[in-house]
Amino acid sequence: MSVLTIKDFNKTYSNGVQACKNVNLTIKTGMYGLLGPNGAGKSTLMRTIATLQEADSGSIFLDELDVLKEKHEVRKILGFLPQEFDVYPKSTAYELLNHLAVLKGMKDAKIRKEAVLSLLEKTNLYNLRNKYLGSFSGGMKQRFGIAQALLNNPRLLIVDEPTAGLDPEERFRFHNILSELGENIIVILSTHIVEDVSELCHSMAIMNHGEVLIEAHPEKVLEQLKGKVWGKVIEKEEIEQVNEQYRVLSSRMYMGKTKVHVYHEAQITNHKSQITNISGGGDCQSPLNIESPTGKSALQDCQYPLENGFTLVETDLKDAYFYYIREKKQETPAESTEASSGTTLVGKTEETPAHSEIASGGVSREEPRNDWDGKTEE
Ligand code: ADP
Repeated sequence: MSVLTIKDFNKTYSNGVQACKNVNLTIKTGMYGLLGPNGAGKSTLMRTIATLQEADSGSIFLDELDVLKEKHEVRKILGFLPQEFDVYPKSTAYELLNHLAVLKGMKDAKIRKEAVLSLLEKTNLYNLRNKYLGSFSGGMKQRFGIAQALLNNPRLLIVDEPTAGLDPEERFRFHNILSELGENIIVILSTHIVEDVSELCHSMAIMNHGEVLIEAHPEKVLEQLKGKVWGKVIEKEEIEQVNEQYRVLSSRMYMGKTKVHVYHEAQITNHKSQITNISGGGDCQSPLNIESPTGKSALQDCQYPLENGFTLVETDLKDAYFYYIREKKQETPAESTEASSGTTLVGKTEETPAHSEIASGGVSREEPRNDWDGKTEE
């Protein structure tokens, strides 16, 4: 088991953009998802781990290896598939991979040939080995990118924004290769595509504006929102009103209508299943008394907030993603770090005063909304 430990990592570019702010992450053998919108700071962190740029401050260790100082050693055990990966169109897959293997110092021709063919096999490119790379689809190029990243049997593989533009079948193949690799080495998948993380990663972090908002197992992330995400299918015209009334997490088209997910906290205050609205907001202020023997079923039966026809939905990672991205944007400068049930929340937690402020109406309907529009990428 290897561990990559990132502590208090900071990076500000010469144009003044603070791309990473006090980033702390612990990444163990397996598939790790680094999720965040464009501009979150993911590539800055990935490029620094890949020894392609300097940190301003902080430390990065792979087990005992000082990544920021022992760059030469890191390169020997690192595989990197960058966001922009270009191939020579007039080389065949075999020729280019063989050439890259020479550049990586594999001198023995026989061993090199075996290694190259084995990697082409592993990435499902063996039958295409004599085809020009210029004729490859996006998915094939990505798989070739993985093949070149694996030339030196890396202990750490970094894949930056890999599946944008891949068709479902190519994406599936690519995922299979990554998850197989994740059985033995650290694979960091940096992406803005939530599904890539939910399908593949046993551990994850969400970043935005250079900061880590949460680091946890995906199921822990979902647990945080259990019983707080409500859904409804509405007419397109209703979206504005819903936006005004509720804290919309996401909206997507659904059979010609709009399916909307909103965040709303309800709290069970006693065993008689009194559910109290704590999210603030006009007509939702009064506690509801629901005749139900257990809090759980009361919560499930409860139509509220959501007298307006919303029902509790099973939270998915997309809801969680938008929740963290959005909450962080709304918050005050007060921050705290808290470890609870294996989850590190960076920023506000439910217990912090800053969050209570939101919960008790700190974000009122009248306040200007932030620039987040609640729409998913779909
Ligand atoms: P992500 O990979 O999450 O999209 P990046 O690390 O690429 O995020 O970018 C984080 C921020 O740093 C963005 O605001 C981006 O414009 C800025 N940035 C990235 N690279 C540079 C650079 N070389 N010079 C100046 N600003 C940069």
